[in-house]
Amino acid sequence: LWSQVLERLQLQLSRPTFETWIKTASAEQLTDNCLVLRTPNPFARNWLQKYYIKTISDVVQDILGQPVEIQLLVTAGDDHSPISDTGISWSVPIGSSVSEGISNSPPRLPELNHKYVFSRFVVGSNNRMAHAASLAVAESPGREFNPLFLCGGVGLGKTHLMQAIGHFRLDKCPDSKIFYVSTEQFTNDLIAAIRKDSMQSFREHYRTADVLLVDDIQFIEGKEYTQEEFFYTFNTLHEAGKQVVLASDRPPNQIPRLQERLCSRFSMGLIADIQAPDLETRMAILQKKAEYENIRLPRSVIEYIATHYTSNIRELEGALIRAVAYVSISGLPMTVENITPILNPPIPKVKASPDTILMTVADAFNVSIEDLKGNSRRREISWSRQIGMYLMRQHTDLSLPRIGEEFGGKDHTTVLYSCDKIGQLRESDATVDQTLRQLSDRINLTSQTKN
Ligand code: ADP
Ligand code: MG
Repeated sequence: LWSQVLERLQLQLSRPTFETWIKTASAEQLTDNCLVLRTPNPFARNWLQKYYIKTISDVVQDILGQPVEIQLLVTAGDDHSPISDTGISWSVPIGSSVSEGISNSPPRLPELNHKYVFSRFVVGSNNRMAHAASLAVAESPGREFNPLFLCGGVGLGKTHLMQAIGHFRLDKCPDSKIFYVSTEQFTNDLIAAIRKDSMQSFREHYRTADVLLVDDIQFIEGKEYTQEEFFYTFNTLHEAGKQVVLASDRPPNQIPRLQERLCSRFSMGLIADIQAPDLETRMAILQKKAEYENIRLPRSVIEYIATHYTSNIRELEGALIRAVAYVSISGLPMTVENITPILNPPIPKVKASPDTILMTVADAFNVSIEDLKGNSRRREISWSRQIGMYLMRQHTDLSLPRIGEEFGGKDHTTVLYSCDKIGQLRESDATVDQTLRQLSDRINLTSQTKN
């Protein structure tokens, strides 16, 4: 039951919230009318009690079909001190989160995140056109902009807009078939269909969509067979006047190894790009987020966070969540002084050579460069390898496949998985963040002295 509950909650809550507060709890006992949950410490218990108990019990009730009382216990004899100088530190130590991260294969992605709706999207000069186009497509799909191609950097709202289109359609027309898939998932479905000899149903499935939303289409690069199949899916839908929306971190003509015919299909509707938000927009986003989460924020705090997180809205939101968590745990008032120590504004990333990165990581974790390029699955080695991939993504412009090559010919999905995983851990675990900062510092230093 608890894993079902977790799955649902994961869809409903933001990732930092989920990782920090929900995932650390475990189910202890379930009787007819009472579910007992164990939390790692008193702060976590109070926090859950205060903010999430209603959400949890709603979900449980939904699953069980009857109301259930939720009781929260605290693990006894927990010797983790809940607060340290760096902030929240009871999260799993690096070692254990690695193994945990690997064994928990990622659940199938949620269809649509209920938070990704138009009303929660803040419009600024950076995204005005993408927003307007998305709204137009949502209002009359298959008409004006088909396909709609959204492009922009990581964490700037592509997925949000895309899913907002889906929500909007479902509100208007609850029966319409809205498919939201990542390119990864499309590929996996395709592979599964080939394996199970069920291509027919694969095709039928995708071709019945009224609106097909495909996220991170840049990952189609180099996948010949996926491109082939997607081309036919696309054409079928397009000819039938069905809407296709694509999101990518770059425009079609900059996706390497993309078939010419797909590139031209992708470009025949509207390409709308999203830029990094300006200060005013960032402040408005924080303001709105705080309103939805019922958090009172002084203007000085909003300003502070917004000035320090400039290029990625996901990080901006993550900073807000961390700040809120910190003051609530420490009992301090929400002021700029009190949250400065834990916010750690992003440090600039100097471009570095892959060798510098490999050397820095090998050195820091006391492993050899051969280890990083090899296939050992020993925990320390695969952990440092994943960190290395993440840092290479941050400090170079190399594509995922190229990064895979630097690590002795790993598949690009392995690289993607590592980068995602480390990125997520970084958001939820202050020690991981600290480690990455130190490594980035060293890489910056080495690269600067070299130049
Ligand atoms: P992308 O798909 O471009 O990487 P996402 O759509 O996942 O980015 O957005 C990252 C986070 O930032 C999400 O939580 C999203 O709700 C939020 N976000 C992005 N842009 C906006 C915006 N304009 N207004 C409100 N929230 C936003
Ligand atoms: Mg996205």
